[in-house]
Amino acid sequence: MGLITSLSTENRQRLEGIASEKFHQLGLKVYQPLLTSVLAQDLKATIHTPETLPDAEIEQVKLLSNSNNWSAVIIRKNPLVIVHNSRHAITRQNSNLMHEFAHIILKHEMVPYDPSTGLPQRRQQDEDEAVYLGGCLQIPRRGLLWAIQKKMTIDRIALHFNASQDMVQFRMNVIG
Ligand SMILES: [Zn+2]
Repeated sequence: MGLITSLSTENRQRLEGIASEKFHQLGLKVYQPLLTSVLAQDLKATIHTPETLPDAEIEQVKLLSNSNNWSAVIIRKNPLVIVHNSRHAITRQNSNLMHEFAHIILKHEMVPYDPSTGLPQRRQQDEDEAVYLGGCLQIPRRGLLWAIQKKMTIDRIALHFNASQDMVQFRMNVIG
């Protein structure tokens, strides 16, 4: 992933710190998995799939539900409503939601939707930060170090943190 080099070391440290702070606020130890439902409640977010969304009039969601090529979108900020793609694997759904939560935690501004894809036209810097923070929320740095110290395998770590093996590998790569 290109974002490893696109974000400065300071910025990555800041994002790791934001994730640790969130774990602390929620009373979690860094080695405990953060459930998307817990973070959704903390951020007062309502989570939908296109199938469960009551407001069927929302055009971009209609567009998205016909395609597999999208992850999750914030459709309203106040109150917060996130729609995600339930056709992805559960571990991917978790990272998709963590990514959107990261946009909220980082107070990224809402951006216009691309009318042809139904997806928000985000700034690349915001995207990279959300990918990075999303990963930290799924597998915090110190949680990963704990797992490595326990000699857990990648698939055990993935299971423990409700993450994909790719995410574990990604977190290992960025932490070094
Ligand atoms: Zn994003």
